[in-house]
Amino acid sequence: MIIAIDGPAGSGKTTVAKLLSKTLGFLYLDTGAMYRTLTLKALWESCNLDDVKALVDLAKNLSLKFSKENVYLDGEDVTFQIRTPMVDKNISKVVSYPEVRNVMVELQRLIIKGKNYVVEGRDITTVVCPDAEFKFYLDADLEVRAKRRTRDFIEKNIKVDLKEVLEDLKRRDEADKNREVGALKISKDAIYIDTTNLSIDEVIKTMLKYIKFKNIK
Ligand code: C5P
Repeated sequence: MIIAIDGPAGSGKTTVAKLLSKTLGFLYLDTGAMYRTLTLKALWESCNLDDVKALVDLAKNLSLKFSKENVYLDGEDVTFQIRTPMVDKNISKVVSYPEVRNVMVELQRLIIKGKNYVVEGRDITTVVCPDAEFKFYLDADLEVRAKRRTRDFIEKNIKVDLKEVLEDLKRRDEADKNREVGALKISKDAIYIDTTNLSIDEVIKTMLKYIKFKNIK
């Protein structure tokens, strides 16, 4: 069974998806982390981000591994590095190419095939798993999302400015919503949850209400 979650950055997707997977005993896939790792690899290789062919090659040969809490690229723990402002600044271009997305979507489908997964991203309910048993779209006001992201950076000792984070989120939202393929949109059959004024617990409870345990066991 697949539980698909989409939504913009800072909507609470990652925290919620992780907790939900734990609660249900499901595996968890963060597709944003996959795109982040690809972007980091491109930066490591000083790859020209206008060179689609080179990016597709990197995607096809990406040596990516997940453990429970960590992400590894070429055997190196990059959990921290993939969430820096440097990756945030460069990722929109990397993820904009349909050719790159095709490779990543194929990989995502291969990972989750035949298993119980909570999968989160931007195009999970629409492209990666349009037949998912449960589809959610999490959202929140831009300012609240910017505050959440800023707090995340501060917790990691990364110095950022709220205004800059907000502008970066705005820019990424625009890019995510307007790209040609795999754009962020609310799937017709997705359950929409505004997390602006909800605690993580409240979001999980709302989602669990929709998820019939009898279907899972
Ligand atoms: O979810 P997260 O913010 O970590 O994702 C990082 C970036 O990866 C997003 O800004 C988005 O552009 C891209 N992304 C995507 N498709 C996905 C997941 C993430 O394009 N399924």
